Amino acid sequence: GNIVAIVGRPNVGKSTLYNRLTETRKAIVDDMSGVTRDRHYGLAEWTDKTFTVIDTGGYVANSEDIFEIAIREQVLIAIEEATAIIFMVDVTTGITDLDDDIAGILRRSKKPVFVTANKVDNNMLLAEAAQFYSFGLGEIYSLSSMTGSGTGELLDDVIKTFDETEEIQNELPVYAIVGRPNVGKSSMINALLGKDRNIVTNVAGTTRDSIHIHYKQFGHDFMLVDTAGLRKKTKVRENIEFYSVMRTIGALEEADVIILMLDATEGIESQDINIFHLAEKNRKGLVLVVNKWDLVEKDHKTAKAFEQKINEKIAPFTDVPIIFTSVTEKQRIFKVLEAAQKVYDNRKKKISTSKLNDFLLPIIENTPPPATKGKHIKIKYITQISASTPMFAFFCNLPQYIKDPYKRFLENKLREQFDFTGVPIQLFFRQK
Ligand code: GDP
Repeated sequence: GNIVAIVGRPNVGKSTLYNRLTETRKAIVDDMSGVTRDRHYGLAEWTDKTFTVIDTGGYVANSEDIFEIAIREQVLIAIEEATAIIFMVDVTTGITDLDDDIAGILRRSKKPVFVTANKVDNNMLLAEAAQFYSFGLGEIYSLSSMTGSGTGELLDDVIKTFDETEEIQNELPVYAIVGRPNVGKSSMINALLGKDRNIVTNVAGTTRDSIHIHYKQFGHDFMLVDTAGLRKKTKVRENIEFYSVMRTIGALEEADVIILMLDATEGIESQDINIFHLAEKNRKGLVLVVNKWDLVEKDHKTAKAFEQKINEKIAPFTDVPIIFTSVTEKQRIFKVLEAAQKVYDNRKKKISTSKLNDFLLPIIENTPPPATKGKHIKIKYITQISASTPMFAFFCNLPQYIKDPYKRFLENKLREQFDFTGVPIQLFFRQK
């Protein structure tokens, strides 16, 4: 997947740009997932391209003495992981030492860099922006967060750098094992492979290929994306998180099924929920793994209670398998693969139009959508849209009057009847 990282020192306006880029999508997500908070990465769209944008500012420590180290490191990580980098500077303050530092790091990288002068609110400031040519990083893009001007020109050029070869390298299912640092991802992969993978931490030689493992054992055949295997040493705690997020986003976009690992001793945290929603938004299959289950003191109710807690946090999309594992005790680790395979199959599932209508039309007849403004809503027929993930079109007279609770009711019926466990499904209502 394509990742665009916004880097720069604090207060230049990174999050304003981030918000603008993710704005159109955000409304949809918030609607789907309840509240979204604490998100510094999200989906953006420009013309026909979708990409992940990451606001690196969200990961910078508050403490004065470490933020410069943190920023420098984040620039390095961004260079490694992102497709393109937006280097944001502030025309009203001019070039600072930290700007120069960052420019130096970026000049040595081979990634496309877009120097973006923010707060260019008038023509006089536009002339000022020329000073940033001294970075030696090429073209200067001028933005004004106030008027919103300049974003289009920037994005037009950013999307030209995108890798078009990402589409289907092979036909094999792709599963990505993701999760916060220390949940047990490496241990899981080693256990599944039945041997210790010799993990080489060679940042310069880091390649995408080295994190793909072709798994062909016990009747399984798929590609495993390992987000744990390569990790950079860092002294800044926030950057461990930042690095993990960058890796996760990259893996997430190319995978069919996301295996999200949680630590049973810590439960589900906001970072996990963010990843969950990003996967859901990207219409990826999902399997939740609660690892280190051996460390939890438990009786016959513990797993149920744990499940319930998770479901409250991830609602409304709770139709997701949850597997309790102990990698160290080798408990249920192959169940994870079985669940992933099931979810993969569910995601590819096609329901015939006759089956759909035979099942749904009587239900709709019995429980029709509530009349709105005195108008009766009639759903005539339903068909699955030909797409890479399950999508259903409901043809009706007044699609705009069908409300979310009724949509959810129909979605639940579809899930009960046809089993879409682990798979986000979409319902569209169209005029016939
Ligand atoms: P990663 O950062 O997600 O790759 O996590 P690691 O695989 O490096 O594991 C972090 C630590 O947790 C290591 O010390 C593992 O031995 C330990 N660990 C992993 N899985 C389990 C488990 O199921 N039970 C217990 N008790 N410890 C585990």
